[in-house]
Amino acid sequence: MANTDIKKEPALDLLGLQGSTEVNVDDLYKCVHCGLCLEHCPTYVELGLETESPRGRLALMKAVAEGRVGYTDRLVEHLDLCLLCRACEAACPSGVPFGSLMAATRARIQEEAGASGWGAAVRSLVFRQMFPYRWRLNLAFGLMRMYQNTGLQALVRRWGLLRLLPARFSEMESMMPSLSTQAYPPVDLEFVPAKGKPRARVGFFSGCIMPLVFGPVNAATLRVLTRNGCDVVIPRGQGCCAALNVHSGEREVAREMARRNIEAFEVMAVDAIVINSAGCGAMLKEYDELLEHDPDYLPRARAFVAKVKDISEFLAELPLDPPSGWIEKRVTYQDSCHLVHAQRVKEQPRTVLRSIPGLELVEMPGSDNCCGAAGVYNIVQREMSMQILDSKMKDVASTDADIVVTANPGCMLQLDLGLKKAGLPGRSYHVVELLDQAYALEEAGD
Ligand code: SF4
Ligand code: SF4
Repeated sequence: MANTDIKKEPALDLLGLQGSTEVNVDDLYKCVHCGLCLEHCPTYVELGLETESPRGRLALMKAVAEGRVGYTDRLVEHLDLCLLCRACEAACPSGVPFGSLMAATRARIQEEAGASGWGAAVRSLVFRQMFPYRWRLNLAFGLMRMYQNTGLQALVRRWGLLRLLPARFSEMESMMPSLSTQAYPPVDLEFVPAKGKPRARVGFFSGCIMPLVFGPVNAATLRVLTRNGCDVVIPRGQGCCAALNVHSGEREVAREMARRNIEAFEVMAVDAIVINSAGCGAMLKEYDELLEHDPDYLPRARAFVAKVKDISEFLAELPLDPPSGWIEKRVTYQDSCHLVHAQRVKEQPRTVLRSIPGLELVEMPGSDNCCGAAGVYNIVQREMSMQILDSKMKDVASTDADIVVTANPGCMLQLDLGLKKAGLPGRSYHVVELLDQAYALEEAGD
Protein backbone atom coordinates (compact mmCIF):
# COMPACT_ATOMS: atom_id res chain seq x y z
CA MET A 1 0.00 0.00 0.00
CA ALA A 2 2.95 2.28 0.60
CA ASN A 3 3.49 2.42 -3.12
CA THR A 4 0.01 3.86 -3.67
CA ASP A 5 0.90 6.81 -1.45
CA ILE A 6 4.16 7.36 -3.25
CA LYS A 7 2.38 7.42 -6.58
CA LYS A 8 0.41 10.48 -5.52
CA GLU A 9 3.52 12.52 -4.78
CA PRO A 10 4.13 15.32 -7.32
CA ALA A 11 7.78 14.19 -7.46
CA LEU A 12 6.59 11.31 -9.57
CA ASP A 13 6.47 13.64 -12.53
CA LEU A 14 10.23 13.89 -12.41
CA LEU A 15 10.21 10.79 -14.57
CA GLY A 16 8.00 12.69 -16.95
CA LEU A 17 5.75 9.75 -17.71
CA GLN A 18 2.58 11.65 -16.79
CA GLY A 19 0.85 13.91 -19.26
CA SER A 20 3.40 14.29 -22.01
CA THR A 21 3.56 10.59 -22.85
CA GLU A 22 1.10 7.72 -23.09
CA VAL A 23 2.67 5.58 -20.39
CA ASN A 24 0.82 4.87 -17.20
CA VAL A 25 3.26 5.49 -14.37
CA ASP A 26 1.44 2.91 -12.25
CA ASP A 27 2.99 0.29 -14.50
CA LEU A 28 6.33 0.92 -12.80
CA TYR A 29 4.83 -0.50 -9.62
CA LYS A 30 3.63 -3.72 -11.23
CA CYS A 31 7.12 -5.18 -10.78
CA VAL A 32 7.08 -7.56 -7.82
CA HIS A 33 10.85 -8.20 -8.02
CA CYS A 34 10.39 -11.90 -8.69
CA GLY A 35 13.44 -12.03 -10.97
CA LEU A 36 11.83 -14.29 -13.57
CA CYS A 37 12.94 -11.89 -16.28
CA LEU A 38 16.63 -11.96 -15.35
CA GLU A 39 17.70 -15.03 -17.28
CA HIS A 40 16.00 -13.63 -20.40
CA CYS A 41 17.88 -10.32 -20.31
CA PRO A 42 20.98 -10.38 -22.55
CA THR A 43 22.82 -7.64 -20.64
CA TYR A 44 22.19 -9.33 -17.30
CA VAL A 45 23.27 -12.69 -18.72
CA GLU A 46 26.51 -11.14 -19.99
CA LEU A 47 27.34 -9.00 -16.96
CA GLY A 48 25.46 -10.54 -14.03
CA LEU A 49 24.77 -7.08 -12.58
CA GLU A 50 21.43 -6.04 -11.11
CA THR A 51 21.79 -2.55 -12.60
CA GLU A 52 21.98 -4.16 -16.06
CA SER A 53 18.80 -6.20 -15.53
CA PRO A 54 15.14 -5.34 -16.20
CA ARG A 55 14.40 -5.36 -12.47
CA GLY A 56 17.35 -3.07 -11.79
CA ARG A 57 16.41 -0.68 -14.59
CA LEU A 58 12.84 -0.49 -13.31
CA ALA A 59 14.22 0.31 -9.85
CA LEU A 60 16.27 3.13 -11.37
CA MET A 61 13.23 4.52 -13.18
CA LYS A 62 11.29 4.38 -9.91
CA ALA A 63 14.09 6.13 -8.05
CA VAL A 64 13.89 8.99 -10.56
CA ALA A 65 10.10 8.99 -10.38
CA GLU A 66 10.18 9.33 -6.61
CA GLY A 67 12.74 12.12 -6.71
CA ARG A 68 15.48 10.11 -4.99
CA VAL A 69 17.91 10.56 -7.86
CA GLY A 70 18.15 12.55 -11.09
CA TYR A 71 19.19 11.53 -14.58
CA THR A 72 22.88 11.35 -13.79
CA ASP A 73 25.33 10.20 -16.47
CA ARG A 74 25.82 6.86 -14.69
CA LEU A 75 22.11 6.22 -14.38
CA VAL A 76 21.55 7.05 -18.04
CA GLU A 77 24.38 4.66 -18.97
CA HIS A 78 22.53 1.76 -17.31
CA LEU A 79 19.35 2.65 -19.17
CA ASP A 80 21.22 3.10 -22.46
CA LEU A 81 22.76 -0.36 -22.22
CA CYS A 82 19.27 -1.87 -22.52
CA LEU A 83 18.69 -3.27 -26.02
CA LEU A 84 14.94 -2.70 -25.81
CA CYS A 85 14.62 -6.30 -26.95
CA ARG A 86 11.56 -6.75 -24.70
CA ALA A 87 12.47 -10.29 -23.72
CA CYS A 88 11.79 -9.27 -20.12
CA GLU A 89 8.32 -8.07 -21.07
CA ALA A 90 7.44 -11.42 -22.63
CA ALA A 91 8.74 -13.30 -19.57
CA CYS A 92 7.14 -11.09 -16.92
CA PRO A 93 4.18 -12.68 -15.07
CA SER A 94 3.09 -9.28 -13.71
CA GLY A 95 2.61 -7.71 -17.13
CA VAL A 96 5.17 -4.91 -16.74
CA PRO A 97 5.14 -3.11 -20.13
CA PHE A 98 8.89 -2.65 -20.07
CA GLY A 99 9.19 -1.57 -23.71
CA SER A 100 6.87 1.40 -23.45
CA LEU A 101 8.26 2.40 -20.04
CA MET A 102 11.80 2.43 -21.40
CA ALA A 103 10.84 4.22 -24.63
CA ALA A 104 9.02 6.91 -22.65
CA THR A 105 11.92 7.22 -20.22
CA ARG A 106 14.32 7.76 -23.10
CA ALA A 107 11.99 10.41 -24.49
CA ARG A 108 12.10 12.13 -21.13
CA ILE A 109 15.87 11.93 -20.94
CA GLN A 110 16.04 13.61 -24.34
CA GLU A 111 13.80 16.43 -23.06
CA GLU A 112 15.28 16.76 -19.57
CA ALA A 113 18.93 16.07 -19.81
CA GLY A 114 19.43 16.97 -23.44
CA ALA A 115 21.61 14.79 -25.58
CA SER A 116 25.35 14.78 -25.88
CA GLY A 117 28.19 12.43 -26.77
CA TRP A 118 28.73 9.89 -29.50
CA GLY A 119 25.45 7.98 -29.13
CA ALA A 120 23.41 11.16 -29.19
CA ALA A 121 25.27 12.45 -32.26
CA VAL A 122 24.62 9.20 -34.15
CA ARG A 123 20.98 9.18 -33.12
CA SER A 124 20.45 12.80 -34.10
CA LEU A 125 22.03 12.26 -37.51
CA VAL A 126 20.20 9.02 -38.19
CA PHE A 127 16.81 9.67 -36.65
CA ARG A 128 16.25 13.38 -37.11
CA GLN A 129 18.17 14.15 -40.25
CA MET A 130 17.91 10.93 -42.28
CA PHE A 131 15.07 8.53 -41.61
CA PRO A 132 12.15 10.95 -41.85
CA TYR A 133 13.30 11.97 -45.37
CA ARG A 134 13.27 9.31 -48.03
CA TRP A 135 15.28 11.36 -50.52
CA ARG A 136 18.09 11.85 -47.99
CA LEU A 137 18.23 8.12 -47.32
CA ASN A 138 18.30 7.42 -51.05
CA LEU A 139 21.09 9.96 -51.51
CA ALA A 140 23.15 8.58 -48.61
CA PHE A 141 22.79 4.98 -49.77
CA GLY A 142 23.47 6.02 -53.38
CA LEU A 143 26.79 7.50 -52.23
CA MET A 144 27.55 4.37 -50.22
CA ARG A 145 26.77 2.23 -53.26
CA MET A 146 29.17 4.33 -55.37
CA TYR A 147 31.84 4.05 -52.66
CA GLN A 148 31.55 0.26 -52.76
CA ASN A 149 31.00 -0.38 -56.44
CA THR A 150 33.60 1.96 -57.92
CA GLY A 151 36.39 0.15 -56.07
CA LEU A 152 36.98 3.11 -53.76
CA GLN A 153 36.16 1.02 -50.69
CA ALA A 154 38.66 -1.66 -51.72
CA LEU A 155 41.36 0.99 -52.21
CA VAL A 156 40.63 2.70 -48.89
CA ARG A 157 40.87 -0.64 -47.10
CA ARG A 158 43.99 -1.78 -48.97
CA TRP A 159 45.85 1.47 -48.20
CA GLY A 160 44.75 1.36 -44.56
CA LEU A 161 43.25 4.87 -44.82
CA LEU A 162 40.62 4.01 -42.24
CA ARG A 163 43.33 3.99 -39.60
CA LEU A 164 43.54 7.78 -40.05
CA LEU A 165 39.95 8.16 -38.86
CA PRO A 166 38.68 7.81 -35.29
CA ALA A 167 38.20 4.12 -34.43
CA ARG A 168 34.43 4.47 -34.34
CA PHE A 169 34.25 5.58 -37.96
CA SER A 170 36.31 2.65 -39.15
CA GLU A 171 34.07 0.31 -37.11
CA MET A 172 31.01 1.80 -38.77
CA GLU A 173 32.65 1.44 -42.17
CA SER A 174 33.38 -2.23 -41.49
CA MET A 175 29.70 -2.79 -40.70
CA MET A 176 28.46 -1.15 -43.88
CA PRO A 177 26.14 -3.60 -45.63
CA SER A 178 26.94 -4.78 -49.13
CA LEU A 179 24.96 -2.66 -51.61
CA SER A 180 25.70 -4.58 -54.76
CA THR A 181 22.08 -4.81 -55.91
CA GLN A 182 19.67 -2.09 -57.00
CA ALA A 183 16.94 -0.84 -54.69
CA TYR A 184 13.66 -2.77 -54.84
CA PRO A 185 10.81 -2.11 -55.33
CA PRO A 186 11.48 0.83 -57.65
CA VAL A 187 9.50 3.97 -56.76
CA ASP A 188 7.25 3.66 -59.81
CA LEU A 189 6.13 0.11 -58.98
CA GLU A 190 2.76 0.57 -57.31
CA PHE A 191 0.86 -2.61 -58.15
CA VAL A 192 1.77 -6.24 -58.79
CA PRO A 193 -1.09 -8.55 -59.81
CA ALA A 194 -1.75 -11.97 -58.28
CA LYS A 195 -0.78 -15.06 -60.21
CA GLY A 196 -4.05 -16.83 -60.98
CA LYS A 197 -7.31 -16.09 -59.22
CA PRO A 198 -6.84 -13.38 -56.53
CA ARG A 199 -7.34 -14.56 -52.95
CA ALA A 200 -6.54 -11.24 -51.24
CA ARG A 201 -5.55 -7.65 -51.88
CA VAL A 202 -2.64 -6.64 -49.69
CA GLY A 203 -0.67 -3.46 -49.12
CA PHE A 204 3.09 -3.97 -48.98
CA PHE A 205 5.03 -1.89 -46.48
CA SER A 206 8.35 -1.74 -48.26
CA GLY A 207 10.21 0.13 -45.50
CA CYS A 208 13.03 2.63 -45.81
CA ILE A 209 16.20 0.55 -45.45
CA MET A 210 14.76 -2.70 -46.82
CA PRO A 211 14.54 -1.52 -50.47
CA LEU A 212 18.04 -0.05 -50.31
CA VAL A 213 19.89 -2.87 -48.56
CA PHE A 214 17.62 -5.87 -48.90
CA GLY A 215 16.04 -5.36 -52.31
CA PRO A 216 16.26 -9.12 -53.03
CA VAL A 217 14.25 -9.88 -49.85
CA ASN A 218 11.57 -7.42 -50.94
CA ALA A 219 11.54 -8.96 -54.42
CA ALA A 220 11.20 -12.45 -52.90
CA THR A 221 8.35 -11.21 -50.71
CA LEU A 222 6.42 -9.87 -53.69
CA ARG A 223 6.95 -13.09 -55.65
CA VAL A 224 5.76 -15.19 -52.70
CA LEU A 225 2.68 -13.02 -52.20
CA THR A 226 1.64 -13.04 -55.86
CA ARG A 227 2.40 -16.80 -56.08
CA ASN A 228 -0.10 -17.19 -53.22
CA GLY A 229 -2.83 -15.29 -55.06
CA CYS A 230 -2.35 -11.79 -53.64
CA ASP A 231 -2.79 -8.57 -55.56
CA VAL A 232 -0.09 -6.35 -54.06
CA VAL A 233 -0.42 -2.59 -53.71
CA ILE A 234 2.68 -0.53 -52.84
CA PRO A 235 1.60 3.01 -51.83
CA ARG A 236 4.09 5.58 -52.99
CA GLY A 237 3.44 7.94 -50.05
CA GLN A 238 4.72 5.53 -47.41
CA GLY A 239 7.97 6.19 -45.53
CA CYS A 240 10.02 4.94 -42.61
CA CYS A 241 7.96 3.26 -39.86
CA ALA A 242 9.59 5.42 -37.11
CA ALA A 243 10.71 2.49 -34.92
CA LEU A 244 14.24 3.81 -34.47
CA ASN A 245 12.91 7.24 -33.56
CA VAL A 246 10.64 5.80 -30.87
CA HIS A 247 13.43 3.65 -29.44
CA SER A 248 15.57 6.73 -29.02
CA GLY A 249 12.89 8.94 -27.56
CA GLU A 250 12.12 10.95 -30.72
CA ARG A 251 8.37 10.55 -30.27
CA GLU A 252 7.10 13.77 -31.89
CA VAL A 253 9.00 13.07 -35.12
CA ALA A 254 7.71 9.49 -34.93
CA ARG A 255 4.09 10.64 -34.69
CA GLU A 256 4.40 12.68 -37.86
CA MET A 257 5.90 9.69 -39.66
CA ALA A 258 3.08 7.43 -38.42
CA ARG A 259 0.40 9.84 -39.66
CA ARG A 260 1.99 9.88 -43.09
CA ASN A 261 1.98 6.08 -43.33
CA ILE A 262 -1.62 5.80 -42.17
CA GLU A 263 -2.68 8.27 -44.86
CA ALA A 264 -0.74 6.40 -47.53
CA PHE A 265 -2.40 3.05 -46.81
CA GLU A 266 -5.95 3.96 -45.78
CA VAL A 267 -6.98 5.03 -49.29
CA MET A 268 -5.86 1.70 -50.77
CA ALA A 269 -8.70 -0.53 -49.46
CA VAL A 270 -6.50 -3.53 -48.70
CA ASP A 271 -7.31 -6.65 -46.68
CA ALA A 272 -3.93 -6.63 -44.93
CA ILE A 273 -0.78 -4.54 -44.67
CA VAL A 274 2.13 -6.96 -45.01
CA ILE A 275 5.65 -6.29 -43.79
CA ASN A 276 8.80 -8.41 -43.91
CA SER A 277 10.80 -6.49 -41.31
CA ALA A 278 10.00 -7.54 -37.73
CA GLY A 279 11.23 -4.31 -36.15
CA CYS A 280 9.08 -2.19 -38.47
CA GLY A 281 6.09 -4.52 -38.04
CA ALA A 282 6.23 -4.15 -34.26
CA MET A 283 6.22 -0.37 -34.65
CA LEU A 284 3.33 -0.36 -37.13
CA LYS A 285 1.29 -2.47 -34.71
CA GLU A 286 1.78 0.19 -32.03
CA TYR A 287 0.67 3.24 -34.02
CA ASP A 288 -2.54 3.34 -31.97
CA GLU A 289 -0.46 3.64 -28.79
CA LEU A 290 1.76 6.28 -30.36
CA LEU A 291 -1.24 8.36 -31.46
CA GLU A 292 -3.35 7.69 -28.39
CA HIS A 293 -3.78 11.40 -27.64
CA ASP A 294 -4.54 12.43 -31.20
CA PRO A 295 -8.35 12.31 -31.58
CA ASP A 296 -8.19 12.82 -35.36
CA TYR A 297 -5.80 9.99 -35.99
CA LEU A 298 -6.53 7.45 -33.24
CA PRO A 299 -9.48 5.74 -35.01
CA ARG A 300 -7.48 5.73 -38.24
CA ALA A 301 -4.47 4.30 -36.41
CA ARG A 302 -6.62 1.53 -34.93
CA ALA A 303 -7.99 0.60 -38.36
CA PHE A 304 -4.43 0.56 -39.72
CA VAL A 305 -3.05 -1.56 -36.85
CA ALA A 306 -5.83 -4.14 -37.26
CA LYS A 307 -4.51 -4.88 -40.76
CA VAL A 308 -0.76 -5.12 -40.10
CA LYS A 309 0.73 -8.62 -40.45
CA ASP A 310 4.24 -9.91 -40.55
CA ILE A 311 4.79 -11.83 -43.80
CA SER A 312 5.05 -15.21 -42.00
CA GLU A 313 1.98 -14.42 -39.91
CA PHE A 314 0.03 -13.50 -43.05
CA LEU A 315 1.14 -16.58 -44.98
CA ALA A 316 0.35 -18.94 -42.11
CA GLU A 317 -3.16 -17.47 -41.85
CA LEU A 318 -3.83 -17.35 -45.61
CA PRO A 319 -2.75 -20.28 -45.59
CA LEU A 320 0.18 -20.49 -47.99
CA ASP A 321 0.24 -22.91 -50.87
CA PRO A 322 3.05 -25.32 -49.87
CA PRO A 323 5.89 -25.42 -52.40
CA SER A 324 6.96 -28.67 -54.00
CA GLY A 325 10.56 -27.58 -54.68
CA TRP A 326 13.07 -29.32 -52.38
CA ILE A 327 15.69 -27.57 -50.28
CA GLU A 328 17.79 -30.23 -48.60
CA LYS A 329 19.40 -28.09 -45.92
CA ARG A 330 19.72 -28.11 -42.16
CA VAL A 331 18.37 -24.75 -41.04
CA THR A 332 18.25 -22.97 -37.68
CA TYR A 333 15.94 -20.05 -36.97
CA GLN A 334 16.88 -16.97 -34.93
CA ASP A 335 13.74 -15.33 -33.51
CA SER A 336 13.85 -11.58 -34.06
CA CYS A 337 13.08 -9.85 -30.76
CA HIS A 338 10.51 -7.60 -32.34
CA LEU A 339 8.71 -10.53 -33.88
CA VAL A 340 8.76 -12.96 -30.96
CA HIS A 341 8.67 -10.63 -27.95
CA ALA A 342 6.95 -7.52 -29.27
CA GLN A 343 4.52 -9.14 -31.76
CA ARG A 344 4.42 -12.56 -30.07
CA VAL A 345 4.82 -14.25 -33.46
CA LYS A 346 6.80 -17.41 -32.78
CA GLU A 347 5.31 -20.41 -34.55
CA GLN A 348 4.40 -18.87 -37.90
CA PRO A 349 7.95 -18.48 -39.28
CA ARG A 350 8.61 -22.08 -38.28
CA THR A 351 5.37 -23.14 -39.99
CA VAL A 352 6.56 -21.44 -43.18
CA LEU A 353 9.97 -23.13 -42.97
CA ARG A 354 8.46 -26.56 -42.26
CA SER A 355 6.29 -26.20 -45.39
CA ILE A 356 9.46 -26.51 -47.51
CA PRO A 357 10.13 -30.11 -48.56
CA GLY A 358 13.56 -31.44 -47.63
CA LEU A 359 14.32 -28.65 -45.17
CA GLU A 360 15.29 -29.77 -41.67
CA LEU A 361 14.59 -27.18 -38.99
CA VAL A 362 16.84 -27.54 -35.96
CA GLU A 363 16.32 -25.31 -32.93
CA MET A 364 19.32 -23.50 -31.46
CA PRO A 365 19.55 -22.94 -27.69
CA GLY A 366 18.13 -19.54 -26.81
CA SER A 367 16.74 -18.85 -30.28
CA ASP A 368 14.70 -16.00 -28.79
CA ASN A 369 17.69 -14.29 -27.15
CA CYS A 370 18.68 -11.05 -28.86
CA CYS A 371 21.57 -11.16 -31.35
CA GLY A 372 22.76 -7.69 -30.26
CA ALA A 373 21.64 -5.74 -33.34
CA ALA A 374 18.82 -3.68 -31.78
CA GLY A 375 18.58 -0.76 -34.19
CA VAL A 376 21.76 1.31 -33.86
CA TYR A 377 22.76 -0.46 -30.64
CA ASN A 378 25.52 -2.27 -32.50
CA ILE A 379 27.00 1.14 -33.33
CA VAL A 380 26.45 3.06 -30.11
CA GLN A 381 26.99 0.13 -27.70
CA ARG A 382 29.51 -1.72 -29.82
CA GLU A 383 31.28 -3.67 -27.07
CA MET A 384 28.17 -5.17 -25.48
CA SER A 385 26.63 -5.81 -28.89
CA MET A 386 29.68 -7.85 -29.97
CA GLN A 387 29.73 -9.75 -26.66
CA ILE A 388 26.08 -10.74 -27.16
CA LEU A 389 26.75 -11.62 -30.79
CA ASP A 390 29.66 -13.89 -29.86
CA SER A 391 27.38 -15.79 -27.45
CA LYS A 392 24.74 -16.05 -30.18
CA MET A 393 27.21 -17.47 -32.70
CA LYS A 394 28.19 -20.21 -30.26
CA ASP A 395 24.52 -21.21 -30.13
CA VAL A 396 24.28 -21.10 -33.93
CA ALA A 397 27.43 -23.23 -34.32
CA SER A 398 26.13 -25.79 -31.82
CA THR A 399 23.29 -26.72 -34.21
CA ASP A 400 25.62 -27.66 -37.06
CA ALA A 401 23.12 -25.95 -39.36
CA ASP A 402 23.95 -25.09 -42.98
CA ILE A 403 21.89 -21.92 -42.86
CA VAL A 404 20.75 -19.44 -40.20
CA VAL A 405 17.41 -17.82 -40.93
CA THR A 406 15.69 -14.83 -39.35
CA ALA A 407 12.95 -12.27 -40.03
CA ASN A 408 14.44 -8.82 -39.63
CA PRO A 409 16.98 -6.86 -41.70
CA GLY A 410 18.96 -5.61 -38.69
CA CYS A 411 19.30 -9.18 -37.40
CA MET A 412 20.44 -10.35 -40.85
CA LEU A 413 23.25 -7.77 -40.92
CA GLN A 414 24.28 -8.63 -37.39
CA LEU A 415 24.22 -12.38 -38.05
CA ASP A 416 26.25 -11.90 -41.22
CA LEU A 417 28.86 -10.09 -39.16
CA GLY A 418 28.70 -12.87 -36.57
CA LEU A 419 29.20 -15.59 -39.20
CA LYS A 420 32.23 -13.71 -40.51
CA LYS A 421 33.70 -13.17 -37.05
CA ALA A 422 33.15 -16.81 -36.10
CA GLY A 423 34.65 -18.08 -39.36
CA LEU A 424 31.41 -19.78 -40.33
CA PRO A 425 30.51 -20.03 -44.02
CA GLY A 426 27.63 -18.41 -45.91
CA ARG A 427 25.24 -15.64 -45.05
CA SER A 428 21.96 -15.31 -43.16
CA TYR A 429 18.61 -15.64 -44.93
CA HIS A 430 15.17 -14.19 -44.44
CA VAL A 431 12.41 -16.81 -44.03
CA VAL A 432 10.71 -15.60 -47.17
CA GLU A 433 13.87 -16.00 -49.25
CA LEU A 434 13.90 -19.75 -48.63
CA LEU A 435 10.22 -20.08 -49.44
CA ASP A 436 10.79 -18.11 -52.65
CA GLN A 437 13.68 -20.42 -53.56
CA ALA A 438 11.44 -23.45 -53.02
CA TYR A 439 8.82 -21.97 -55.38
CA ALA A 440 11.54 -21.23 -57.95
CA LEU A 441 12.73 -24.84 -57.76
CA GLU A 442 9.14 -25.99 -58.14
CA GLU A 443 8.78 -23.89 -61.29
CA ALA A 444 12.05 -25.21 -62.65
CA GLY A 445 10.74 -28.73 -62.06
CA ASP A 446 13.42 -29.68 -59.49
S1 SF4 B 1 9.60 -10.65 -14.23
FE1 SF4 B 1 8.39 -8.75 -14.11
S2 SF4 B 1 7.75 -8.62 -11.97
FE2 SF4 B 1 9.43 -10.11 -12.03
S3 SF4 B 1 11.31 -8.88 -11.63
FE3 SF4 B 1 11.05 -8.96 -13.87
S4 SF4 B 1 9.89 -7.09 -14.37
FE4 SF4 B 1 9.65 -7.42 -12.15
S1 SF4 C 1 14.52 -4.94 -22.92
FE1 SF4 C 1 16.03 -6.60 -23.18
S2 SF4 C 1 18.02 -5.68 -22.61
FE2 SF4 C 1 16.40 -4.29 -21.84
S3 SF4 C 1 16.06 -4.93 -19.74
FE3 SF4 C 1 14.56 -6.06 -20.99
S4 SF4 C 1 15.54 -8.01 -21.50
FE4 SF4 C 1 17.16 -6.61 -20.73
